[in-house]
Amino acid sequence: MSSESDSIRRELSKLEATARLLDPGPAQRTAWLNGLRAFTEAFLEGLNDTPGFKGDDGLDGFSGTHFEETPADIEALLPLFEREVLEKGANTASGRYVAYIPGSGVYPSALGDFLADVCNRYAGVSLAGPGATRMEQSLIRWMCRLVGYPESANGDLASGGSIATLSAMVAARDAKDVTPGRIGNACVYLTRQAHHCVRKALHIAGLSEAKARYLPMDERYRMDPAALERAMAEDREKGLQPFLVIASAGSTDTGTIDPIDDIARIAQQYEAWLHVDAAYGGFFLLCEETRPALAAMRRADSIVLDPHKGLFLPFGSGAVLLRDGTDLLRSFSYTADYLQDASAHIGHGAQYSPADYSPELSRPFRGLRMWLPLKLFGLAPFRAALQEKLLLARYFRQEIARLDRWEVGPEPDLSVVTYRYIPRRGDADDFNRRLNQALLDDGRIFISSTQIDGVFTLRLAVLNFRTHRDIIDELLELLPRMAEKLERENEKTP
Ligand SMILES: *Cc1c(COP(=O)(O)O)cnc(C)c1O
Repeated sequence: MSSESDSIRRELSKLEATARLLDPGPAQRTAWLNGLRAFTEAFLEGLNDTPGFKGDDGLDGFSGTHFEETPADIEALLPLFEREVLEKGANTASGRYVAYIPGSGVYPSALGDFLADVCNRYAGVSLAGPGATRMEQSLIRWMCRLVGYPESANGDLASGGSIATLSAMVAARDAKDVTPGRIGNACVYLTRQAHHCVRKALHIAGLSEAKARYLPMDERYRMDPAALERAMAEDREKGLQPFLVIASAGSTDTGTIDPIDDIARIAQQYEAWLHVDAAYGGFFLLCEETRPALAAMRRADSIVLDPHKGLFLPFGSGAVLLRDGTDLLRSFSYTADYLQDASAHIGHGAQYSPADYSPELSRPFRGLRMWLPLKLFGLAPFRAALQEKLLLARYFRQEIARLDRWEVGPEPDLSVVTYRYIPRRGDADDFNRRLNQALLDDGRIFISSTQIDGVFTLRLAVLNFRTHRDIIDELLELLPRMAEKLERENEKTP
């Protein structure tokens, strides 16, 4: 008996000696931190001199990765990371990234993640992390006030806009009682400008069979409210259920805002759920200039905002807000026997627990990456940066339109500009496609393209906090030079 215990003790001390390697002491921690600090400092200091985009060399330095039983040195790993990750694709930390909807990554967020991860406080349920969940609730409250929601509102810090949208769609489905037998009768109203994550979320929520009504838009690609009203009336006439309206507060393609006030009135009249996708545009509420156009968002039943876009956080932060927070509880508040100690902390009337408001249980403590930058910087630089982005987009649009043979698309409400070059001869779509490719190959500034009514169009999206006038001026110089180069090549080909 006692010899058996002795052998267990011997085995345990052997295992412990190796297992304790997972908990290195101060010397090792400091060495790693110093390695990372030197690396990230060099990265940030060199950022404006590195291209906005680099093609993929197709080499996969991670294929055949196998993990040794023994430790590696951080000095050997950082060059691998640099070569295999940083040297390829979009440089999303850079102000030279003005494609799609740019990300950025304010530095204090990285510190917030570091702090959250080292302390690893549990932010799923308030019993375990009363302070962590209160911090998250304070951020949700701040965003609810920003959008003008009443006290009844609540929400969740999710990993991004797509997951936040999924939560909103599930809540809408349950609130409007779209049970499986009724899905075929339920109608969803949107435009071709709606972000594809909405259709994806509807699919995941089991709502693929709902009838999608794509509505006509005005000349600036905003939803036509009269068409919405007609479509809803027709559907109700047919005995269908006008269930859900999707409006954009900042469309990805054209940076425009749907007429949310009119849309909200009609949705309410037909008792349909109104969801406003403000993933890109929501934080422009911080700017005096754009607040009026966004103010009607407060009438939506659900809103999605992406702090990893308009608040310049690194990827990994979206937010869903519901005008009536109990609509999220209805869909997501569950309990289990093994959570009985926490059950007083779950559900209606309890202290806020993110697990009640989202599909997740265990999750990263997402509050700190948002709270720390808001505190360390204060709001003023965020407002100024957003206002600067609006003005940079306007400046670019005005300057490019002045140049010979360049034309601009519809006037945006926010910081996306569509434009294209009309070549002296040949097909304009083809020319702009080649121009876009030439800019990608050059890589200095990363722009992107889209199709507007089937027309190949170049796009500028200013949302990285590191994009300032120097980069826009550089682009204004680069674009005509590239176009001229392609024109000359055009002339040479018969
Ligand atoms: C980016 C974006 C989304 C999707 O959000 P993710 O955070 O990328 O998942 C949805 N709608 C709009 C308008 C967006 O710009």
